[in-house]
Amino acid sequence: RPRPLVAGNWKMNGLKSSAKVLDEIHAGYTPGLKAKVDLAVCPPATLVGPLALQAVGSRVAIGGQDCHAKESGAFTGNVSAEMLADAGATYVIVGHSERRQYHGEKDVDVCAKAVAAHRAGLTAIVCIGETREEREAGRALSVVKKQLRGSTPVDSNSQNLVVAYEPVWAIGTGLTPTSADVAEVHALIRDELKRLVGKADSARVRILYGGSVKPSNATELMAVENVNGALVGGASLVAADFLAIAGAY
Ligand code: 13P
Repeated sequence: RPRPLVAGNWKMNGLKSSAKVLDEIHAGYTPGLKAKVDLAVCPPATLVGPLALQAVGSRVAIGGQDCHAKESGAFTGNVSAEMLADAGATYVIVGHSERRQYHGEKDVDVCAKAVAAHRAGLTAIVCIGETREEREAGRALSVVKKQLRGSTPVDSNSQNLVVAYEPVWAIGTGLTPTSADVAEVHALIRDELKRLVGKADSARVRILYGGSVKPSNATELMAVENVNGALVGGASLVAADFLAIAGAY
């Protein structure tokens, strides 16, 4: 079984004063917890450098929330994977549903960003997940399969790829799928990963669940087969909640 990863996606939240949240996470990342679970914090781009410096010597990894596919150039407002790596990030989230929804990112764009992440030496956290309409139409599995195939580059392996299953209807809503539904989707992802990275390595790829993960539901969600951690939005902004979710392992 892969070592679990609990990653916090701060989204567009966080100022310099948020350094105290990282301090609290450090303080609560006890040897017992370190033995069981990896932690990563993905702050807004403005804080990647400062928090990465603050995290030096700790075991908390820092990640970006998006990157451009190119290394550099005339792309006003964008940040490259190389820039995130240079600032001290080791992870980057790509293809989050909010990027797909508000920035029109398609699977092919997400795949190009994951390629960029790998080129820069980052681990890509590739997000996939169905909408409410797609689930109600019975299309959740086919949508997830198509997104996974389209969004993950051929150079992926268990070291440079993390898959995050985030049903869009569960993000920020307080709603979560049943354990059986999570198990079904994660099993499909695991099976698909065999084609991508080979059978042996597919067992080592971390598949995270994301969408309204809280301390109160983390134990149940993290116990589901093929759930190797969580991608946490709202609850990751509060150190005690983030640590409690990590403590579900
Ligand atoms: P919430 O945990 O706030 O539902 O957000 C999930 C998410 O989008 C993490 O990337």
